[in-house]
Amino acid sequence: MPGPRADGTTPTASERGKARAVLNRLRQRYPDIGTALDYESPWQLLVVTILSAQTTDENVNKVAPALFERYPEPADLAEADREEVEGIVYSTGFYRQKSESIIRMSQDIVDHHGGEVPKDMDHLVELRGVGRKTASVVLAEVWDVPAIAVDTHVKRVTRRLGLTEEEDPVAIETDLRSLYPRKDWSELSMRFIQFGRDICEARKPLCGACELFSLCEWPNRFERAGKTPD
Ligand code: SF4
Repeated sequence: MPGPRADGTTPTASERGKARAVLNRLRQRYPDIGTALDYESPWQLLVVTILSAQTTDENVNKVAPALFERYPEPADLAEADREEVEGIVYSTGFYRQKSESIIRMSQDIVDHHGGEVPKDMDHLVELRGVGRKTASVVLAEVWDVPAIAVDTHVKRVTRRLGLTEEEDPVAIETDLRSLYPRKDWSELSMRFIQFGRDICEARKPLCGACELFSLCEWPNRFERAGKTPD
């Protein structure tokens, strides 16, 4: 059985049923979903996931080939000249911070893990530049380890739907773990993220065209959809 929510309560059968209905509808919308980032190794996925913050996967895919051609292995990037890296990843935005993150992360992999990406959450989040969200993406994508990555889209969509009332990403992750069986964890985040981009946008959610409308608890959904509450 899944554990309790972050506040210590246990979801009711009807709350679990609603959560299942949400996932079923998202499965219909996105039958096959995985990361749109191109990568060929766990380390490359870590790098491109860090680079994908605040930009599109498409933008990252444009710079990744040049980056990995110049620095094929973690050891190469660990010793890279930062300014040179900045020049390659410039177009992804926040290029100084991102360059520093991917270099330091690579240094940690070389210095503490023999050049191999660790396969568990505890060690992954010890890598500089790697938070729980990035670690969850890698665990789920590469090793199919059940993990739920909570980013800004997952947070917004799950709160609007009423699946959680928490603000903190770790607490939201705990709430989602309590609502869904372990086997569903890995596929959740990608679908919520894509749905948050396509329909449940931050500023202009398309509530009138939303298949989750009847399951949603966001008070402003009627106004957005041009409907009146029953
Ligand atoms: S009804 Fe609106 S707020 Fe609710 S999930 Fe759909 S798009 Fe988001």
